[in-house]
Amino acid sequence: MPDERDLPFGVLAECYYRLESTSGRLDMISLLRDLLSRTPPDVIDKVVYLTLGRVAPEFVDLELGIGEKLALRAIAMASGMAESKVEAKYKELGDIGLVAEWAIQNRSVLAFLKEELTVNRVFNALVKIAKTSGPSSQDIKLKTLSGLLADAEPLEARYIMRIITEKLRLGVRDMTILDALAEAFLGGRQRREMLERKYNTYPDIGRIARVLAEKGEAGLEEIKVSLGVPIRPMLAQRLREASEILEKMGSRFLAEMKYDGERMQVHVWPDGRVEIFSRRLENITHPYPDVREGVREAFKGESAILDGEGVAFNPDTGELYPFQELMHRRRKYGVEEMMEKYPVVLFLFDLLYLNGEELIDRPLEERRRLLEHVIEESDRIKLAEGWLQEWTTEELEKRLELAVERGTEGLMIKDPASRYQAGVRGWSWVKYKRSYVSKMVEPVDLVAVGGFWGRGKRAGTYGALLLAVYDPGTDTFKTVCKMGTGFTDEQLAQLPEIFKEYVIEHRHPSVVSNIEADVWFVPAKVLEVIGDEITLSPVHTCAWGKVKPDAGLAIRFPRFTGRWRDDKSPQDATTEQEIVEMYREQLRIISEKR
Ligand code: ATP
Repeated sequence: MPDERDLPFGVLAECYYRLESTSGRLDMISLLRDLLSRTPPDVIDKVVYLTLGRVAPEFVDLELGIGEKLALRAIAMASGMAESKVEAKYKELGDIGLVAEWAIQNRSVLAFLKEELTVNRVFNALVKIAKTSGPSSQDIKLKTLSGLLADAEPLEARYIMRIITEKLRLGVRDMTILDALAEAFLGGRQRREMLERKYNTYPDIGRIARVLAEKGEAGLEEIKVSLGVPIRPMLAQRLREASEILEKMGSRFLAEMKYDGERMQVHVWPDGRVEIFSRRLENITHPYPDVREGVREAFKGESAILDGEGVAFNPDTGELYPFQELMHRRRKYGVEEMMEKYPVVLFLFDLLYLNGEELIDRPLEERRRLLEHVIEESDRIKLAEGWLQEWTTEELEKRLELAVERGTEGLMIKDPASRYQAGVRGWSWVKYKRSYVSKMVEPVDLVAVGGFWGRGKRAGTYGALLLAVYDPGTDTFKTVCKMGTGFTDEQLAQLPEIFKEYVIEHRHPSVVSNIEADVWFVPAKVLEVIGDEITLSPVHTCAWGKVKPDAGLAIRFPRFTGRWRDDKSPQDATTEQEIVEMYREQLRIISEKR
């Protein structure tokens, strides 16, 4: 008898199959809405994680990703086929999901007592596989997986294998799920914004889905800022001139050093446990034991969520290193060695939670005062240097020079009365870097959505990439340039390997493009790009019709700076709106010069 508190896994497989052949975002949302509406609340969190290709929220360190070899062996075992036959098929198809589907379809062992797979069974088995470690772990993983496959229908096998090898690639992202949840439980997509606000302070979309399904809107009340659940970081707008800053922010504000490192959100538990989360909300505690220890010593309270920037420095001179050097620390092995070579100092600038109390709605001035109160500075843990005062244009310009001279990127301007707007790029924080000429000197972070095959020297690799900005309003990526410059020969040669796992057969549903790429990618990889200027474009879809009818905006002469922004998710890329602002700024400077 079917369990009313569970869902046949076949329902998911069927929905994934339909999602794969959909290229419209609205169709995707309605497929997901239908799925979530018919899912029993007891398993809706699991359904959400699985649909995102995971078994836990992103910030939980629970990696699936089993090796190819093991996956192929499990398929052979479940289907009764020789391993060599399965391997040969894999060479032919190149997709482990399709191989599993084919093998189960043609299996020689017939399971007479086949048990229907359910969401609970699949999910629990995947969690078991992810958690198993130790000497006999390979064996346990193999048995668990082949056990699942033995009971699977061919289509189910396809998706189980794609999930377990982290290649589900349905193109469903958190924002798409929020849209679907708003439609399923709150009466329409116009309510997504409200859900998004909750999600920004508690980005566990499975839990959000569950309370909504169980208790409706009222359930959201019980979700609160919590230790172990990273808050989405507050972000900054940018302005170029001191005079504009004074115009926008008034004359009294906080100007803080803008350090060039990695954003770190540090959670401290009453028992002294410390965990660090990145700008993308991944748990990055492991590579930074020095930061963990430093915070444990410097924090004089019971529990806290701290926001700051970790920066690598030269242990011989004390000089701050730029961001690239810090990236040596982001590794699994050799942590100790790198810790000596590239020690880190954490500059704290915010306090979001203290001793069990949420502080995000308190004014910055108060949060900063509390922060100063609970942190005893040391060599490794410092308060971000800042000045809260009345400013004039001249003073602010001078302070910027000082900041640049000290090896920081410039200043962060903050409204002392502002609340902490999680996940929002608002005007309460403004970046102020060196002054700019009319040309584009500041890099942008763009998402690769497609590729074009190279010729001549570039035969066999990509000759250019199709790059896009992000539009959070519609949750889509809009093209802004084609880039083939700035790569070293080595970087060029690596491109096919880097993009291999993101290649899809058709344009991704969230990509808006008038250009046909040779190869389409799932929007995933973010690159730092510098261009000459922003121009009107008859083809690119960025800001289409926004500054001129029937025209978009493009970046002219784009070059890769060599910096892969793996610390950014595609939704953290430069937004369409930012490009519009940069374009307007450019026009203003040009007209002033005349
Ligand atoms: P963004 O994070 O705004 O998308 P980005 O990663 O390219 O853009 P920047 O444009 O350099 O970064 O500026 C924002 C980042 O600056 C913050 O996310 C944070 O990591 C860093 N930062 C350094 N110093 C400070 C500070 N005092 N206050 C806030 N953020 C700071």
